[in-house]
Amino acid sequence: MSKIDSYEVLDGKLHRKKKTCPKCGDGVFLAEHSNRISCGKCGYTEFKRKEEPKKEEKKIEKPPIPETGAPSLFEE
Ligand SMILES: [Zn+2]
Repeated sequence: MSKIDSYEVLDGKLHRKKKTCPKCGDGVFLAEHSNRISCGKCGYTEFKRKEEPKKEEKKIEKPPIPETGAPSLFEE
């Protein structure tokens, strides 16, 4: 077991390996809020940048299938 793995648990809560506080150093993680992350020890706060909504819609426009009955040169 390495020491790094022990940092997973902090304050009785399971923390994933996130950002650590630049002031407190390694081992002190920044608490994640909806719009910011902050250090519970020294109060360091870092505001998140607004994330653009992810567009899950993928517009894949397939080329129109020729209806002329011409043989296709490439298979799908
Ligand atoms: Zn701190």
